[in-house]
Amino acid sequence: MSDPRIQATGPDATGSRRIGIFGGTFDPPHRAHLALACAARDTLALDELRWVPAGQPWQKARAITPALHREAMVREAIAGERGFVLDRCELERDGPSYMVDTVDTLRAKEPAASWVLVLGHDQWAGLHTWHRWKDLLAAVELAVANRPGTANVADAEVLGRARLTVPLPLLDISSTDIRQRVSRGEPIDRLVPPAVARYIERHHLYRKDAHSAH
Ligand code: ATP
Repeated sequence: MSDPRIQATGPDATGSRRIGIFGGTFDPPHRAHLALACAARDTLALDELRWVPAGQPWQKARAITPALHREAMVREAIAGERGFVLDRCELERDGPSYMVDTVDTLRAKEPAASWVLVLGHDQWAGLHTWHRWKDLLAAVELAVANRPGTANVADAEVLGRARLTVPLPLLDISSTDIRQRVSRGEPIDRLVPPAVARYIERHHLYRKDAHSAH
C-alpha cells in the first residue's frame, strides 16, 4: 500500500526531467494558485511546472471568460517565476479539455520526462469523474494540496492510489469569490498578483456589465 505522505526528494535516478502539470480554468489566476505552484515546484523538485489553462473546461457549468484573457492573466501571474511555463496545448485543441489528452500530447513531445499532475484537494476528490481517469493515473504521478472546504474523502479507488503531498497552508481563495468581489466593486488586491489586478481592471473583466469585456 502506498504512503500518501511520501515526498519526492530530487530528480529521478535516470536523470530525466521531472515536469509538473498544473491545469486550471484560471478565471482569474490567484495567489493560492501561485502558492500551490511554488510549493509543488520546490518540494517535488520539479525542473519545470507547466501551467495549462483549460480551453473548454467541461466540468464548469458557468460561462467562462474567453481564453485569450485567461491566458494573458496566467502570463502576467507567472512572469519572472523560476521554472514556470505557460502551455497552450489545451487552447489549441478543439473539443472538451480532457487532462488525459493533454498528458498524451505532452508525453509524446517529451517521452523521456517524468510527469507529475499537481492538483488541489477538490479536484483530487472528483478525479474519478474525469475522462479516462485510470489511463491518466497510469501516465503521471499525482501531487495533491490541501484546500479548505472540500470533502475529505475521494472515491475509494482514487483514495487507494499513491499520491504525493504538496505542503500548503489552507488558503481560502477561489476564482469564484474574486469574480463576485469584482462584480460588487470590492477590492481584490490581497487575492491576486498586482499585474493580474491591473489586467482585470484594464479589460473590465467580471463586472456586472460583462459584455464590456474586451
Ligand atoms: P473556480 O472558483 O472558478 O472554480 P478555482 O479557484 O477553483 O476556480 P481553478 O482554476 O479551477 O481555480 O483551479 C486550478 C487548480 O488550482 C485546481 O487543481 C484547484 O484545486 C487548485 N486550487 C485553486 N484554488 C486553490 C486553493 N485555494 N487551495 C488549493 N488549491 C487550489
